[in-house]
Amino acid sequence: MAEPAAPTAAPKINGQAYPITDHAYDVVVVGAGGAGLRAAFGMAARGLRTACISKVFPTRSHTVAAQGGMSASLGNMGEDDWRWHMYDTIKGSDWLGDQDAIEYMVREAIPAVIELEHYGVPFSRTPEGKIYQRPFGGMTTHFGKGIAQRTCAAADRTGHAILHTLYQQALKHSVEFFIEYIALDLIMDEEGHCRGMMAWNLDDGSIHRFAAKTVVLATGGYGRTYFSCTSAHTCTGDGNAMVLRAGLPLQDMEFIQFHPTGIYGAGCLITEGVRGEGGYLTNSEGERFMERYAPSAKDLASRDVVSRAMTMEIREGRGVGEHKDHIHLHIEHLDPKIIHERLPGIAETARIFAGVDVTREPIPVLPTCHYNMGGIPTNYHGEAVTLRNGNPDSVVPGLMAIGEAACVSVHGANRLGSNSLLDLVVFGRAAANRCAATIDTDEAVPSLPANAGDAALARLDRWRHAQGGTPTAALRLEMQRIMQSNCAVFRTGEVLAEGLKLLEGCWSKRSDVGVSDRSMIWNSDLVETLELDNLLSQAVVSVASAVNRTESRGAHAREDHAERDDKNWLKHTVVWCGEDGRPKIDYRPVHLQPLSNDVQSFPPKARVY
Ligand SMILES: Cc1cc2nc3c(=O)[nH]c(=O)nc-3n(C[C@H](O)[C@H](O)[C@H](O)COP(=O)(O)OP(=O)(O)OC[C@H]3O[C@@H](n4cnc5c(N)ncnc54)[C@H](O)[C@@H]3O)c2cc1C
Repeated sequence: MAEPAAPTAAPKINGQAYPITDHAYDVVVVGAGGAGLRAAFGMAARGLRTACISKVFPTRSHTVAAQGGMSASLGNMGEDDWRWHMYDTIKGSDWLGDQDAIEYMVREAIPAVIELEHYGVPFSRTPEGKIYQRPFGGMTTHFGKGIAQRTCAAADRTGHAILHTLYQQALKHSVEFFIEYIALDLIMDEEGHCRGMMAWNLDDGSIHRFAAKTVVLATGGYGRTYFSCTSAHTCTGDGNAMVLRAGLPLQDMEFIQFHPTGIYGAGCLITEGVRGEGGYLTNSEGERFMERYAPSAKDLASRDVVSRAMTMEIREGRGVGEHKDHIHLHIEHLDPKIIHERLPGIAETARIFAGVDVTREPIPVLPTCHYNMGGIPTNYHGEAVTLRNGNPDSVVPGLMAIGEAACVSVHGANRLGSNSLLDLVVFGRAAANRCAATIDTDEAVPSLPANAGDAALARLDRWRHAQGGTPTAALRLEMQRIMQSNCAVFRTGEVLAEGLKLLEGCWSKRSDVGVSDRSMIWNSDLVETLELDNLLSQAVVSVASAVNRTESRGAHAREDHAERDDKNWLKHTVVWCGEDGRPKIDYRPVHLQPLSNDVQSFPPKARVY
């Protein structure tokens, strides 16, 4: 932990004094999930003075919940090639992924996994002692012809194993942690450079101002805009919202992945690794319906395909259970020894959250919000980019983004399972390399103007003293229900437009929110209100982007525009949000050229599963 320091300034906001403690670092990383930790210790190891801020204890970040694994074409359990991994990722992205970034990721995947192994990640093993690899949805050999075993796993607790190892490395390399500090807002200067950030220490109520040469946002996804999601309560996309408030855009926010197998009712995830190990889905007639929808990949088709097929079955009256509103996932036929060795976590989750003994009965499941493909647009070095003066790749000086908060974009319109853990580690490392190459440690950190951060404090103070009649929890529930019913697996222009209208209503109710606790110490009422404010802007820009995109691509399935339309829509959406909650939309081109001459571009192809 960093040394406590005395406050250096004390602005008054509405008569309230907020003593500020100033800090200066080469780099401030916001977030201590897989992406943040990998970046932070990579920077510290290269001699950069690095701070890492996290609103939860690092090993409680959502990465800890990742189950199935991390992809890399090691070829430990059958032939494999990074070009096949590249093709699968592009096809999975429904051709919206940037092919330069994808090539970078799949090639770096191989050394990245070996590096993790050397850091001490306890991967499961093959009988010969190699890293165990399981099949995962959409991962193939020979450009779609065979099934690849590409996903490196530590039983079904891979995220846990990786996050703990990365935290140990961060401690070893003396990253300075600011734990249970919630980042409030970026500090931007008039030229649009990021100069630092503001944070509130939840433990003692103090306010901290960080001057930095670079700020790296690694704040994760915004799954909590939905009523049912697999992500933690902390996944409120705070970094994304800070970017919107800084007048910068987010990208591809309409692409929200539903995982086919969230536990019915609770939403907790049952990993795709279950189907990788031989699990399968059935409808009320006991039929393995995926054979009809995806004759070759079947239950291991990509997530958007399986989620839609399940939704179709339920809609056509073939759902299971009393209300015919979910689907069965079977692993009873697997050897209990295999379940015990490779899937112990999901056996426990199914017992606790569905009351099911997986060795005897099927697990009730339903598509559940799982991952945000959209986020802060970046290049493959992790630098945030924006559309400026006609340049779609204009770098925002001093600002980077990595992990689920970022949109590199390697996942395009739909992420393949096990490509996110990979994305965290590869681009966390890339960001560290970039900072080491561009930041001069001998140069002083530019000092901040005296009023830097006042806007962030004014926002904090406004919410702290909010006296309206609407409890934060009530408004959050209203937003989550709108997202759940108006921006779901299947979408139409009409339903989305209605959702946008309803969200406008939520936005205007912000002025009537009431916060009852005024203290500055562990004020969870205020924390949740700040998070709700963050979620709302992301809900608005997600639905606005979804209304606008009149085609179906990846996770964005429009019933009124069922085909993918490459002529008009092979482009990234970029979206801004005004202070009045009004979204503004523009576009960036997809990078269809790979990074090197070792591989040719993969032009869009018709969809065959
Ligand atoms: C249940 C589940 C299972 C998954 N399984 C897999 C899998 O098997 N394979 C795979 O590839 N992917 C998987 N994923 C996806 C993957 O785990 C996530 O995309 C990834 O872990 C996100 O990592 P991250 O580092 O970007 O953010 P997170 O791990 O979410 O961490 C975010 C960090 O930001 C900090 N933070 C956020 N806001 C603030 C703020 N305002 N101030 C200070 N700190 C802040 C938090 O404290 C936290 O440290 C899974 C996801 C879920 C939900």
